[in-house]
Amino acid sequence: MDAHIETRIDIIRQHLIDPEICIRCNTCEETCPIDAITHDGVNYVVNAEVCNGCMACVPPCPTGAIDNWRNVVRSEAYSVDDQFGWEALPAQNEEVDAPVEVPAQNEEAPVASDTVRGSTVAPWSAARPYVQLYTHKAPALATVVGNYRLTDAAAPSDIRHIVLDFGALPFPVLEGQSIGILPPGTSADGRAHHVRQYSIASPRDGERPGYNNLSLTVKRVQREDSNGSGNGVCSNYLCDLQKGDVVTVIGPFGNTFLMPNHPDSHLLMICTGTGSAPMRAMTEYRRRRRATGETGKLMLFFGARTRGELPYFGPLMNLPKDFIDTNLAFSRTPGEAKRYVQDAMRERADDVAQLLGDGNTHVYVCGLRGMEDGVMQALESIARSHGLDWPALWEQLRREGRLHLETY
Ligand code: FAD
Repeated sequence: MDAHIETRIDIIRQHLIDPEICIRCNTCEETCPIDAITHDGVNYVVNAEVCNGCMACVPPCPTGAIDNWRNVVRSEAYSVDDQFGWEALPAQNEEVDAPVEVPAQNEEAPVASDTVRGSTVAPWSAARPYVQLYTHKAPALATVVGNYRLTDAAAPSDIRHIVLDFGALPFPVLEGQSIGILPPGTSADGRAHHVRQYSIASPRDGERPGYNNLSLTVKRVQREDSNGSGNGVCSNYLCDLQKGDVVTVIGPFGNTFLMPNHPDSHLLMICTGTGSAPMRAMTEYRRRRRATGETGKLMLFFGARTRGELPYFGPLMNLPKDFIDTNLAFSRTPGEAKRYVQDAMRERADDVAQLLGDGNTHVYVCGLRGMEDGVMQALESIARSHGLDWPALWEQLRREGRLHLETY
């Protein structure tokens, strides 16, 4: 073996996460089948000694921050501690920017479908999304044109409907996508606050049709025992915004949690709290197109602690019953038994099963991370009790871009 080849074998293709784009959603860490991804209070990083390049984490990443690679000499691979300190990815070292032999273990690496519960592809008829038009280096500026409390004044949780206008700046979005907000200021270590992600709550043609604006549904994160020091940085910043304030935005993000566009497609939507944002966007898009004769069904399961904490309660209840089949579940109504979205789904098992058995049905789950297990179990038991082969159906839903989960 000559010296040249020996050098090339010592070079590895190191998997890295771009700290400027990463929105710290934890999806990659959850997806990694061999625990190669970890995080501190600032960055998500990949341990080069553990990562086998299986790519399981790449499709679920909502921003693409995960899909970064650098050719490095093996003995000089960036350590986890190096990566914790980064504010940006290092440039590629030209001296090692050569074709790299892919490690043999890659060939036997687990595939994403073994670890990812939901689809990593969009519905076949979804419109093509634009992603990452605006970045940390070149963000968009939007003006606040509305900030309204959605929850009852007496309710403990403060959830707000915030409308952002982009003026003449192009900011094309689709229902199900999200944006990143860069809150001003720095954290205790003097570094700029990292970006936070928020689902878009309005349809593609604007919160107000024909306007270049969009809306968000933001919950103020507060520590119950707190003197304020543990309050969420970005949610409090957003919830306190006034009309006319200017916000720094990156994105849009998301190329799989998208709605189908064929007219006979059905939407089975299951959400809690601010997880209602993408469901509102999709429902409103369908409502605006109702006159065009779309025949697909909409079925919604929506959970909150109490009626007063359910965002968009009034407008939702005003939607015609023949347009959307709405089922509410409240888990903390005084004097009543706790009821979660999965309980409401089981009560409507016949109708849910009918939808599940229909190849035009697309399932969306969004909200608190804790809801995912219960909802998946409910889908499984409803399918099984109605004679559907759940493992085969689940795989088919995933493969066909018909099962989308977004919990945080
Ligand atoms: P952070 O400052 O990030 O704090 C997070 C947690 O840490 C809080 O519980 C806080 O109390 C605690 N904490 C902070 N500082 C301290 C401290 N010093 N000591 C102890 N504890 C502390 N949210 C929405 O409201 N609406 C949406 O539509 C929405 N969509 C999302 C979509 C996706 C795909 C993802 C991944 C997330 C989404 N989120 C949404 C969540 C959102 O991105 C933020 O995570 C959320 O608003 C909290 O951010 P924050 O900056 O307010 O809190």
